[in-house]
Amino acid sequence: MLTDLNVIMLGPPGAGKGTQAARLARLWQIPHISTGAILRDAVKAGTALGREIQSIMESGRLISDDTITRVVCERLREPDAAHGFLLDGFPRTVPQAQSLDELMGDQKLVVVEIALTEETVLHRLASRMVCSECGTNAQDDRDVATCHDCGGTLVPRVDDAEQVVRERLNVYRRQTAPLIDYYGKSPTYCRVDGAQMVDDVTMSIARAVDACRRSDPRGV
Ligand code: AMP
Repeated sequence: MLTDLNVIMLGPPGAGKGTQAARLARLWQIPHISTGAILRDAVKAGTALGREIQSIMESGRLISDDTITRVVCERLREPDAAHGFLLDGFPRTVPQAQSLDELMGDQKLVVVEIALTEETVLHRLASRMVCSECGTNAQDDRDVATCHDCGGTLVPRVDDAEQVVRERLNVYRRQTAPLIDYYGKSPTYCRVDGAQMVDDVTMSIARAVDACRRSDPRGV
């Protein structure tokens, strides 16, 4: 019998982590925990956390390791995450990965890297639209003006402006890309080509994770 499934996703901004995480979390019946979505909700609600981080998020930089680790630890303690989770957007630095390792103890992580070139990232994010109500990424159909999930109006993301995307790519290169080495030798590391069609990326990840689980059913 397969045990709990704990998954993290790596990849540059615009690689499709959010879209793929939403689909795969439904498939695997585990909660999709997006740190970006949690933080955007806090900004929208005007909470103390939201007020503290708004300008950092809008500039494309990362909020502090301590703050985000606290947010994630609290979220992982909720009952729906007791038998697995799919983390989207965390960890994003080596210290965050070390904190997650401590939290996980003996439990294994499956690491999924969605690989994409910077050129493709810039092209994709220039046209990305998200729902102003629920935050879902729009589907690829450019002619649709409303969200396919809730009917909300589609808008560009504030941090998808070109200058901000360039800063987010700098941050990714400097602070997040080292995680590829940090996790790279793990037997449960999967790398998929993010330039494929959306359905093909989903299938590639599902197959790769399945293969990981079958090769070590007691450990993953
Ligand atoms: P995302 O939706 O994952 O692209 O995240 C949007 C923004 O939220 C990032 O550019 C950061 O400002 C912030 N953020 C999300 N996750 C993290 C994290 N793990 N560490 C620090 N900042 C984060």
